[in-house]
Parts: sequence; structure tokens; C-alpha cells
Amino acid sequence: MRLSRVFIVVLCLVAVSGFVYAGSGSGDESLTKLLDGNKRFASGELAKKDIGNERRRELTKGQHPFATVLSCSDSRVAPELVFDQGLGDIFIVRVAGNVVEPTTIGSIEYGAEHLHIPLLVILGHESCGAVTAAVDAKGEPEGNIGAILKKIMPAVKTAKKAKKDKEGTLDMAIQENIRNTYKEIMKKSKIMKELVHEGKVKVIGAEYYLGTGKVEMVELETASHAHH
Ligand SMILES: [Zn+2]
Repeated sequence: MRLSRVFIVVLCLVAVSGFVYAGSGSGDESLTKLLDGNKRFASGELAKKDIGNERRRELTKGQHPFATVLSCSDSRVAPELVFDQGLGDIFIVRVAGNVVEPTTIGSIEYGAEHLHIPLLVILGHESCGAVTAAVDAKGEPEGNIGAILKKIMPAVKTAKKAKKDKEGTLDMAIQENIRNTYKEIMKKSKIMKELVHEGKVKVIGAEYYLGTGKVEMVELETASHAHH
């Protein structure tokens, strides 16, 4: 009889944990997994990932990624590699300059609301070509690439006001652009705003450094931005 009591307790625990938002743990747990993976990547000691036939078959039943990463399209910033993760682990949205518009915000919402992913990482990177192009742009950017640059321009303006050297301006624009993307998601996505306020989704900013292979956190709300 004692065994059945244990069984009931276990059932209750499973039921209770079912109400916790993520099937795959909290945003903090997800962040730890990513940062541990990045440590392995940066040190060149990659984990042996299960991407065999069996894992692939298992994933046909459904996906349960533990993190969403919005990153630049830059071929050197591939999230699965940079965070040393396998198939089915990360829900990824990639676009040059890691900017957002309705379809990309929709993808992020899908991950948070339907896949119950508890973490969103907005990942910019060192020497970003898109941000560099926005810093160097003369006049009003045009065409489809121009549409990306226009999104990055507010970050460039802020960085140029700080009157740093060329490299300093670029570095600052890269980080400001991460913060602007965060602000835009919070402003334009009711779903994300609610999930973040309810503590169901954690959003963090990060920058990837090409040379070291390391991902460093970027403060999303700096003192100068915290108006509210
Ligand atoms: Zn880039």
C-alpha cells in the first residue's frame, strides 16, 4: 500500500509540474544550458550530441526546444554550434542584423505561446556586417537591404551621439541594436509582453565574439533606458 501512496504523490507532482509553464524547465535553466554549451564551444570540447536515426525518429512525435534564439544570419554565428546543442534543442529565428518585423515576431510568439519555450535570447555579434553597413550608410537606405538598415539606424544614431571612434561606434551600435530589438518585441507583441510579465518567459540580450567564441550578456535595460 505504501507503494501506491508513493505513486499518488508522484502523480500529483507530475500534475503540479504540468502547470509550470515550460515542459523543458525554467528560463534560468535554459540559460544555464546554453551558457554551459557555449563554454564547451569556446574551449573546443564539444559534447557528443545525439543526432542519430533514433533521436530523429523520436523528434517526429514533436519538438520541445528549450530556448528561442533570435540571431543574425552571419554564417559564423550559427546558434546550434555556438551553444553546442543538437537537433530539436533550439528554436531559431535568423535575419541579418537580428532585427524584427511582424513575421519574425510571430515566430518568436509561436515558440513562446505554442511550444512553451521559457527563454528568448536576442543574440547580436561582434563585427556585424549589417550594423557596419548601417553605420557607413549615406542618405536614406533603399530596397530590401535598406529595410534592414532602417531598422538598425536608431541604434547607429544613439552610438554616433556618444562620439566614440569608428570601432567604438560600431560596438555600441551592435549593443544598442540588441536593446532596440528587445524594445520592439515588447512594444509590438502583446503575447510576449504578457508572458514576460507573468514570469513565464525570460528575455536576455547577448553578444557573440567571433574570435573567442564566447557569448557575453548584454544588459537590456540600462540606466539611461529605464524611463519607467
Ligand atoms: Zn551580423
